[in-house]
Amino acid sequence: MKAKIKVLGIACLLIFSLALSQEIWRKCIIVIDGDTILLAGNEKVRLIGVDTPETRDENRPIQYFGKEAYEFTKSLVEGKKVRLEYGMNRKDKYGRTLAYVYLEDGTLLNAEIIKQGYGYLYRAFIFKYFDKFWQYEKEAREKKIGLWATVKEPELKAAGKGEDTIVYITRTGTKYHREGCSALKRSKIPITLKEANERGYTPCALCDPPKIKKKKGSRLNI
Ligand SMILES: [Zn+2]
Repeated sequence: MKAKIKVLGIACLLIFSLALSQEIWRKCIIVIDGDTILLAGNEKVRLIGVDTPETRDENRPIQYFGKEAYEFTKSLVEGKKVRLEYGMNRKDKYGRTLAYVYLEDGTLLNAEIIKQGYGYLYRAFIFKYFDKFWQYEKEAREKKIGLWATVKEPELKAAGKGEDTIVYITRTGTKYHREGCSALKRSKIPITLKEANERGYTPCALCDPPKIKKKKGSRLNI
């Protein structure tokens, strides 16, 4: 009797593990953002545990490194086959599928983005690979790669006056600031005044940084 139960148990285990290892491959049609992709069948997938700077919110400027993060994810996954692993919740409040996305060569896309410095650990809740992802982010920061790269001093010194004045932005904000502004406590990214304007950042009301003056009487050359 005992042996019979044992055999049955092993059979069940075998079936269960077979079901688990059955790999379903899906095609990524397009990359929507650095951390969101669209699969065939119109399924939007938000990568678990990683955040990349925004490129798509029309009400906000393109965040620092947003375009680069999008291009990176695109280069890895667009048009390719992927396999999903699900976490605790299958969907987020926007109806997007939440998943770990594996490439055919076994690369975990979510981790790769953090490793290469194109995104950071999503800290709002604990998930299966939280510690690993945290370690990857730490290493990318230490190596100063991707969005952790700092602008080199000589480049800063070479920057001149006017439109080339250096102002500062943060990783998530929409304003640009003067050196020393209290809004720069958590992150501080140097950028020229011209670039800040082009990316849609607006001057902070607290520190009142320099602004690009519109030339009087200037006409558009068409
Ligand atoms: Zn400020």
